[in-house]
Amino acid sequence: MTANTAESTESTVRARPGFLHYAALLTPNALSAARLPLDRDVRPRVDRITEVARGVRRAGRRRMRGLVAAPGGRLRWRSVPEPGLPGPEGALVRPIAVATCDLDRAMMLGRTPFPLPLHLGHECVAEVTDIGDAVTSIHVGDRVVVPFQISCGRCQACRAGFTGSCRSVPPAAMYGFGITGGLWGGALADLLAVPYADAMLVPLPGGVEPAAAAGVGDNICDAYRQVAPHLPGLLATDPDAEVLIVGRIDSHNPLTSSTPLYAAQIARALGARNISVVDGRAAVRARAESLGVRALDPRRHRSWPTAPLTVDSTGTPRGLRRVLAHTAPDGICTCVWSLHRRASIPLAAGYVRNVTLHVGRSHVRAVMPDVLDLMATGRLRPELVTTLVAGFDDAPEALREHCHGDAIKTILTA
Ligand SMILES: [Zn+2]
Ligand SMILES: [Zn+2]
Repeated sequence: MTANTAESTESTVRARPGFLHYAALLTPNALSAARLPLDRDVRPRVDRITEVARGVRRAGRRRMRGLVAAPGGRLRWRSVPEPGLPGPEGALVRPIAVATCDLDRAMMLGRTPFPLPLHLGHECVAEVTDIGDAVTSIHVGDRVVVPFQISCGRCQACRAGFTGSCRSVPPAAMYGFGITGGLWGGALADLLAVPYADAMLVPLPGGVEPAAAAGVGDNICDAYRQVAPHLPGLLATDPDAEVLIVGRIDSHNPLTSSTPLYAAQIARALGARNISVVDGRAAVRARAESLGVRALDPRRHRSWPTAPLTVDSTGTPRGLRRVLAHTAPDGICTCVWSLHRRASIPLAAGYVRNVTLHVGRSHVRAVMPDVLDLMATGRLRPELVTTLVAGFDDAPEALREHCHGDAIKTILTA
């Protein structure tokens, strides 16, 4: 296990004991979040869960290891059913490098609306071990990036690039979120089933290390969509335009902050010169400075620049209001992640300033090729954000360290 950070521990957040974790699932915020996967139509979700349950019961099913997070911060490899080949369009892949998502720490600590226990892991590079008869572009032995969202590639949403809203699967179908994501399994396992191999998998470009690209399946692509679509227009009229990326504004936030650092790296790679990253944790600010961007303390918000491009990664309504207050007239603010049922937003100020507020999830698969191109050409180096690399055998210990230290991004390799 190799750690490349020696900063002090300042952001310790305790794991919620089981009874508190389950009690928290009954709060209005958690209940409204739990209803979201049932948004469209309950039927496909029920069918999916029935199908999984039937598969688990099938006699003679082989077993494999899968890393399971249980309440109280318990993490261990468990014996779980091995997935079968998911139909003629599917593939089986063996994860070789798995990254923690910024949500994983909060999940492992029982501090999200996603019920534990669950099989962890949703950002990975993998090797293809088996393919269905109808698969044409992917071959056994290929090294591929796996998007965390399941998408078919041919429904109306997928064709429009909204792969996170694929209509062929139940809403929010994704790996590593347990029953909330639809029980597609976790990447911290010997095998992962990919139902639409041609549509979902993207071959790893030559010269790109699996450990460097492990986070492309989620956080790195999420960071990309926060800044990349808006920068060309912005920089064409003002090459010195400010970009303000606000991470966690309290030092005890259970979420980690790799995404704000990737967004800063990507903004720089695409030509932005004035980039500020705000985060409550000294370790994150130090990492931002080492990447050559300005690092700011959230407590001194009067010193934040007012920027035409802002990113709210705070995860709180209060944080969103603060970021909106620092969004310039005619600016664009992306609110990256919040599962709060509601928030009060200063509407009149937004109206007069003509601010565009985007609230929503990323469509990872649609931008994966652009992100991998930035990496293959050496303009983006996500490995500079990694704080810990460990082998699969040491995964429980490494993830415990990830939960209780100053970790930003942990990569686990098979
Ligand atoms: Zn994620
Ligand atoms: Zn689709």
